[in-house]
Amino acid sequence: MNDHIEKIAEWIVRSRSIVVFVGAGLSTESGIPDFRSPGGVWDKYDPEDFYFHNFMASETSREKYWQMATEMYESMKDAKPNDAHLAVAELERLGKLDCVITQNIDGLHFKAGNSPDRVLELHGTAMHVTCLSCGRRYPRDAIQLRIAGGDKAPRCDSCKGPLKPATISFGQAMPERETAEAYARSTASDLFIVIGSSLVVHPAAQMPVVAKRAGARLVIINRDETACDELADIIVNGQAGPVMAAVLEEVKRCLDTRGQSKG
Ligand SMILES: [Zn+2]
Repeated sequence: MNDHIEKIAEWIVRSRSIVVFVGAGLSTESGIPDFRSPGGVWDKYDPEDFYFHNFMASETSREKYWQMATEMYESMKDAKPNDAHLAVAELERLGKLDCVITQNIDGLHFKAGNSPDRVLELHGTAMHVTCLSCGRRYPRDAIQLRIAGGDKAPRCDSCKGPLKPATISFGQAMPERETAEAYARSTASDLFIVIGSSLVVHPAAQMPVVAKRAGARLVIINRDETACDELADIIVNGQAGPVMAAVLEEVKRCLDTRGQSKG
């Protein structure tokens, strides 16, 4: 385990283009439930109501969607970044992060201090709401106030179009810019670090594969096994927070030693 930590830190220090890819496992360590897991929010609702075409088609579906989305948002709005989020933000400050590609919608990388141009949110974000007609964006909290006030399916102030959290729903297209950029940056990386994802959701799960094919080293830090384990150069089965805190400490130690020897 310690050998792995040292090796990962050494690779981070030596690499010139590091991409970090994160999934639900990172957020669960901040107390946000994995919505897809049994007993999660999604079990309580009819999956049909989550489909984008139904959201567009029926006011009843929109109301049910907002009810479910509100319950999810309540569980994440006050969540705090954990040691793994903070380590990834610190990598950016150290000039050691090309970008973080996330499947999460909780905005925790921003709370941790990463800058917007270094975070690619593949599944959108729950922190904003978008008008599906004119594209106007609203802060989520402002719209939740309307929900709390009895508005069951809020509409746009400008055009009266339906408002929806800026997350990607079933049957909704992946965000083009983010997806294209995620592929490009993965391909260009020389170190690809997966944290807290079992790598089963596509197309996100393709990213480590294209990175590896293009010659990057692949590190996987996850509690359980993943779909890409056989491709990995190093696998650490453990909690993201403690593992990344240890990696970061070792990275700083290496950078200090290097700085001194350059003198
Ligand atoms: Zn609008």
